[in-house]
Amino acid sequence: MIEFEPAYIKLHESGKLQETANRLNALYESCTLCARNCKVNRNQGEKGICKAGSRVKISSAHPHFGEERPLVGRNGSGTIFLTHCNLLCLYCQNWDISHGGEGDEISDQELASVMLRLQNIGCHNINFVSPTHYLPNIIQATVFAVENGLRVPIVYNTGTYDQLEIVKMLDGIVDIYLPDSKYIDGTIAKKYSPGAGDYPEVAKAALKEMHRQVGLLQTDENNIALWGLMIRHLVLPNGLAGTEEFVKFVADELNPGTYVNIMAQYRPAYKAHQFPELSRGLTHTEYNQALVLARKHGLYNLG
Ligand code: SF4
Repeated sequence: MIEFEPAYIKLHESGKLQETANRLNALYESCTLCARNCKVNRNQGEKGICKAGSRVKISSAHPHFGEERPLVGRNGSGTIFLTHCNLLCLYCQNWDISHGGEGDEISDQELASVMLRLQNIGCHNINFVSPTHYLPNIIQATVFAVENGLRVPIVYNTGTYDQLEIVKMLDGIVDIYLPDSKYIDGTIAKKYSPGAGDYPEVAKAALKEMHRQVGLLQTDENNIALWGLMIRHLVLPNGLAGTEEFVKFVADELNPGTYVNIMAQYRPAYKAHQFPELSRGLTHTEYNQALVLARKHGLYNLG
């Protein structure tokens, strides 16, 4: 049996968790929380590209059974969907939350209570979906939650337009990284996630740092995730996600044993119909080719 204590507990005991929350909170004065680098003062009500304020806004929080099996287990992943997004893909399936801003503002104390409620009903982890733009609130809420008994793993479920320096600040706080790898070509990134032309370099640097921090996925005797890196790769039609280059990157620069979920569920949503190349679902052939490429390049832990 693997003994597990989330790293954030020791960090809290040393006072460093609160220090990180303070350092992140200071960034709201001139926001550089993500690679957009808007430098707006969110404490004064200025809005950057994500349109998020300085109080956290969530659209829902519940046990989720549609995530990867090691996150779901028997009781579900304690998923907290955060409102707004810093990547803003034009084909987003959750566009009403990410682009539309649907959700309710809550205090950091209330967010801590939500985390504890999910733990208390048996969720195996706390899974923050699109967390980057609310990191100061999330880490402050984690301080409050730890003081009141939080001890399940924290999952950082991100679109991966994350600054390297910010990811470094999460060392010892995040147990499970669940990043997307959306694009490998900057021209494509800029077209479908407007302005994010540097996504490939930004995401690769973030993925390497995540891998350095938590390494390969570790699970308990029931195959429930405890810590590690789990990458999602949504295969886009017409090869737009750059699958071969992505799997080569994982094999060569991370580790061929990295847990990778090659995802087939692309459906045109939001403004996808404005782009003929994105206006259909994935074919079986396209998906199978993606799996063949992953295996050809040696990936052996496919979700
Ligand atoms: S988190 Fe939002 S405001 Fe801050 S840099 Fe990113 S997009 Fe801009």
